[in-house]
Amino acid sequence: MAKKQKVLITKKIPDIAKKMLQDAGFTVIGGNNSQSLTPQALIKKSQGVDAVLCLLTDEIDAHYIKKIKGKVKIIANYAVGYDNIAIEATKKAGIVVTNTPGILSDAVAEHTIALIMAVSRRIVEADAYMRAKSYKGWEPMLLLGSDVASKKIAIIGLGRIGQGVAKIMHAGFGSEIMYVDKYKNIFFEKEYRAKRVTLETALKQADIISLHVPLLPSTTHLIGKKQIQLMKKNAIIINTSRGPVIDEHALYTALKKNQIGGAGLDVFEFEPKPVTGLTKLKNVVLTPHIASATLETRVEMATLAARNIIEVLTGKEPISPVV
Ligand code: NAD
Repeated sequence: MAKKQKVLITKKIPDIAKKMLQDAGFTVIGGNNSQSLTPQALIKKSQGVDAVLCLLTDEIDAHYIKKIKGKVKIIANYAVGYDNIAIEATKKAGIVVTNTPGILSDAVAEHTIALIMAVSRRIVEADAYMRAKSYKGWEPMLLLGSDVASKKIAIIGLGRIGQGVAKIMHAGFGSEIMYVDKYKNIFFEKEYRAKRVTLETALKQADIISLHVPLLPSTTHLIGKKQIQLMKKNAIIINTSRGPVIDEHALYTALKKNQIGGAGLDVFEFEPKPVTGLTKLKNVVLTPHIASATLETRVEMATLAARNIIEVLTGKEPISPVV
């Protein structure tokens, strides 16, 4: 009898992935640990496996690829971003890499809107105020925020998630939409009366700036001190893309000096730690990289990652290869 093919799941994800892989006839190892594997443990556990279902916290670098090449046929990343993977090295090693695009766009767009609302209406400060029993009665000047309706929003990176945010802002708040992207999207411009602008114009004109670019050399520190200085005094910036897209030290300084209105961050430059002092500021709302963390989305991500592995290990084409 032929030996069963083996799949490593690097951390606990919804059980559906393990079940699908086992039902397809594979042996599944791992997937019960709530802590990430160390790089050494990851290499060790990957020996002799045919597929790896990994997370964005797993560093799939050239060293790792060197250690696993020959046997592993597919690395299925449990994320749409794949900046944790040395793509050139996987290509050279002939390993297929897949991600989970599309299915998490609504969840991330919704979380972006939640951050826009939380920052604009000071929801987190207000919640802390109530819990501290500081509320003594209605006051006209208590915790004044700013309107979201009819504000100008700039979407930086008009891909799946960026478009999702723009649609909600257009339909729900009547926002004027501008976008920055490498590509012009004529259909989108017509549908949402959106304008493609330069980054400089977006930063100078928008009341809300929302980042949705992948992390690439060209987008690392896309927003630094110079760019933040272009923003309007009351403008807010939201980042649900990847931490290093913003120079977080520069953002911290601007927020501390109240040079801009506020920020909503789901991702951090030096994840998992925000830069020193950020957690002390009231004009920033912080969430721990949970923009896609809905039960429905996590199950769909697990399902798609497992389907990609099943396809490749049975000699078929992957459903969502990254390149
Ligand atoms: P996508 O590929 O559909 O969209 C990215 C867009 O950015 C594209 O339109 C592309 O043309 C544009 N772009 C790329 N480089 C650019 C540049 N230098 N300047 C301007 N535009 C540029 O991706 P998506 O599915 O919308 O996801 C976007 C990113 O969101 C992912 O790469 C990932 O890093 C991040 N993400 C974060 C979470 C989270 O939990 N916070 C969840 C999912 C995705």
